[in-house]
Amino acid sequence: MLRGAAVRLLRGGGGGVGTLRAASGTAAAQLRRRLENELEDIRGAGTWKSERIIASRQGPHLRLDGGGAGILNFCANNYLGLSSHPEVIRAAVEALEKFGAGLSSVRFICGTQSIHKDLEEKIARFHQREDAILYASCFDANAGIFEALLTLEDAVLSDELNHASIIDGIRLCKANKYRYKHMDMQDLEAKLQDAQKHRLRLVATDGAFSMDGDIAPLKEICQLAQKYDALVFIDECHATGFLGPNGRGTDELLGVMDKVTIINSTLGKALGGAAGGYTTGPKPLIDLLRQRSRPYLFSNSLPPAVVGCASKALDLLMESNAIAQSMAAKTQRFRSKMTAAGFTISGKDHPICPVMLGDARLAAVMAEDMLNRGIYVIGFSYPVVPKGKARIRVQISAVHSDEDIDRCVEAFTEVGRKHGALP
Ligand code: PLP
Repeated sequence: MLRGAAVRLLRGGGGGVGTLRAASGTAAAQLRRRLENELEDIRGAGTWKSERIIASRQGPHLRLDGGGAGILNFCANNYLGLSSHPEVIRAAVEALEKFGAGLSSVRFICGTQSIHKDLEEKIARFHQREDAILYASCFDANAGIFEALLTLEDAVLSDELNHASIIDGIRLCKANKYRYKHMDMQDLEAKLQDAQKHRLRLVATDGAFSMDGDIAPLKEICQLAQKYDALVFIDECHATGFLGPNGRGTDELLGVMDKVTIINSTLGKALGGAAGGYTTGPKPLIDLLRQRSRPYLFSNSLPPAVVGCASKALDLLMESNAIAQSMAAKTQRFRSKMTAAGFTISGKDHPICPVMLGDARLAAVMAEDMLNRGIYVIGFSYPVVPKGKARIRVQISAVHSDEDIDRCVEAFTEVGRKHGALP
C-alpha cells in the first residue's frame, strides 16, 4: 500500500510537496509510469472492472447515478432481500443510537459490547454449534483460521475452485497443502490417502461455489472424511440463510450438520448485507481463534449498527422458515424459463444462475444491452472464470417478483437473439 509522501506525490498536491518531489521525484515518476503501464495492460487484456454507482438503497429495484431509475437488479448477493428490510434498518439505527458509531478498538482491548456477545451466541445457535467468533469480514475469517489451527505437522485439502480468501488463508499457514480437482471425490480420496502421514487432515470447501452456482457434494466429502479421519471446513457465504429447509446452509440441505466441524460465513450477503464474517464450531477452536487469529486480534471490532443488522436478520430467520423457503420457487422459475428459452444455466437449484455464453465479448455486449433494457446483470470472463467459459451471472433474490423474473427472461431472450446466442 502507498502511504504518506508517496501518495501525495502521486496525486501531485498538498503542502510542501515541492520539496518532497525533489527528494524522491525519480522514484515517484518511475512508480507512476509502472502503475500506468500495469493499468494499461489490464485495459488491453479486456479485464478492467468498472463500478456502476447506485444512487438508491440496495434492492431488486435500483436507481443508478446519472439517471437510470427503475433498474431491475440481478447481481447482488442480497438473496433474502434483507439488505433494505425495514426491521433490519431499524435494528441498525437502534444499535447505533444505543451503542455508538464504533468501538475505536480491537475486541480484546476495549472493543467487546454485549451486542457482540449476543450475536456470537445467536450465530452458534443458528448453526447448532458450540460457539462463534465475529470478524470484520468472512475474508478475514478465512484469512485467520488456517494459520491459527494448522501447523507443519498437519495437512489441508482444498477444492481447486475455492474462494480467493480460502486460498489466501491457506497460503498463510504452514500445513502441507493439497489441492483436489473441483468436486472430484476420486481425487480427494487419493489426496486423503497421501495425507494419512500427517497428524491432522482438514478438508476445506465452499458449500456453494459463487461462479458456477454448484453445491459441494458434502455427503460424499463427509463420508471420505470419516473414512480417512479428517475434519471438514465449509465456507457458507453463498448458502447461509437460504439453503436447507430452515436456511441453515449446505450442511442442512445435504443432511450433514453433525458431520461438518467448522463453518465460516458472512454477514454481508443474505444476513442483512452490511458487513462482517464469522467462524462457528467447537468451543476450544473458537477460544483458540480469540487468542491466535491475526485478523481478529489486530483489527477493529464490528460497528454496532452492523451487529444490529445481522442480529435482526438472524431473528427473522429463526422466527420462521418462510423467508428461507421463499427463495426456492423464484430460482426455479428463472432457471426453468431460461432453459425453455434455449439458454444453458450452470449449477442446480441455487439462486446463482450463470447463463453460459462461452465468448467473453458476447457476455460483455449482452450484459450492456441488458442494462439498456433496464436489467442489471454482470458478464464474467477470464481470468475470473476459465477461458471459453464466459457467462452472465444472474442472482435471484427472494424479493424479486414473478413479473421481475419474467421481465429478465424476456430481455435475455431478445438480447440473446439479437447477438446470436439464441437461434
Ligand atoms: N467466501 C466466499 C465464498 C465469498 O463469496 C466471499 C465474498 O465474496 C467471501 C468469502 C468474503 O466474504 P466477505 O465479503 O464477508 O469478506
